[in-house]
Amino acid sequence: MSSAYEYTKEQLGDLLGDEPRYRVDQVWHGLWNEAQTFSEITTIPRTLRSRLHEQFKPSLEVANDVQSDRGVTRKWVFRLFDGATIETVLMSYEDRVTVCVSSQAGCGVGCTFCATGQAGFTRHLTTGEVIEQVMFAAREAAPRRLSNVVFMGMGEPLENYRVTVDVVKRLHEYRGLSARHLTVSTVGVAPAIERLAKEGLPLTLAVSLHAANNETRSELIPLNRRYPLERLHQACLNWIATTSRRLSFEWALIDGVNDTEQAMHELASYAQSLRAHVNLIPLNPTPGYLVLGSSAKRVHEFRDGLEALGINVTVRNTRGRSIDAACGQLASVTNAKRRLIPVRSA
Ligand code: SAH
Ligand code: SF4
Repeated sequence: MSSAYEYTKEQLGDLLGDEPRYRVDQVWHGLWNEAQTFSEITTIPRTLRSRLHEQFKPSLEVANDVQSDRGVTRKWVFRLFDGATIETVLMSYEDRVTVCVSSQAGCGVGCTFCATGQAGFTRHLTTGEVIEQVMFAAREAAPRRLSNVVFMGMGEPLENYRVTVDVVKRLHEYRGLSARHLTVSTVGVAPAIERLAKEGLPLTLAVSLHAANNETRSELIPLNRRYPLERLHQACLNWIATTSRRLSFEWALIDGVNDTEQAMHELASYAQSLRAHVNLIPLNPTPGYLVLGSSAKRVHEFRDGLEALGINVTVRNTRGRSIDAACGQLASVTNAKRRLIPVRSA
């Protein structure tokens, strides 16, 4: 049995075979516009509700549910049918409600500072598994309307390319989300960025840069050896030329590693040449990477320095640090007790 969110409207209609068209519309409206479970879709007869219950099965089971910032940040670990675990984070702001979804269980890229990368790859998620994360969050966000979806949970969305494209298309078509409200974050899979540019999808691209010299970047992100900064630059230029959209760079500030004056100048010239926006995120410590994030003072100096160099920059606050809300951390803590205590580098 699979989730109803695996299907397009047409496919769902076929699966409901003998039901009239308006019934399919009602089910669809309940699922997509109202983010309802079958038992909540009271516009349809009870018999159809129980038929739907038998025919489809939600793909997410809550394995852990935590909150911080007095409930404005919530995080769930979900167990999938095969026992794999993923995480989803819901963040409520004054002007928007954002869900951060996982695209894979684990991740094969293996970035050294990332808890998901440290844990390795389990499998790709299906379209329905990604969409269910959005719909679950939409239900929890009510009465506020979920406004933004970011692919910044576990996994590399462009390594699960077809599913990522499919999810973005459906969220646009069926929930009306547009480029300002859909962000895909990638570690920089250059050929996939170029392929994605051609799809003409309404989305914002964020590239996790973290270092603008190949030596440091390859240490942090092993994939940089395959697609070094020069190749990534080409792909970014292609993205901008094809989509006419700006892109942004993510930069997790790591004490003594990429928060130096030299790193700042390297970043400034790389971002300048692509007219990219920079998002600074203080690194969240993870069990397998014994270096700390930059101090708050250094984060602000770094931001001011970039601004003085003409870069458009924002500091992303570390929502949910107390619940390990950065990429993959809660899942890893749920699965195994922390073995190492992060220490400040010399
Ligand atoms: N695989 C994609 C998307 C998931 S990671 C990517 O790498 O972009 C989402 C963001 O969280 C990325 O910018 C990633 O570099 C960042 N991240 C991972 N571990 C982190 C940590 N320990 N502290 C701060 N940011 C982290
Ligand atoms: Fe994968 Fe992104 Fe984590 Fe790197 S930072 S290991 S690409 S999830």
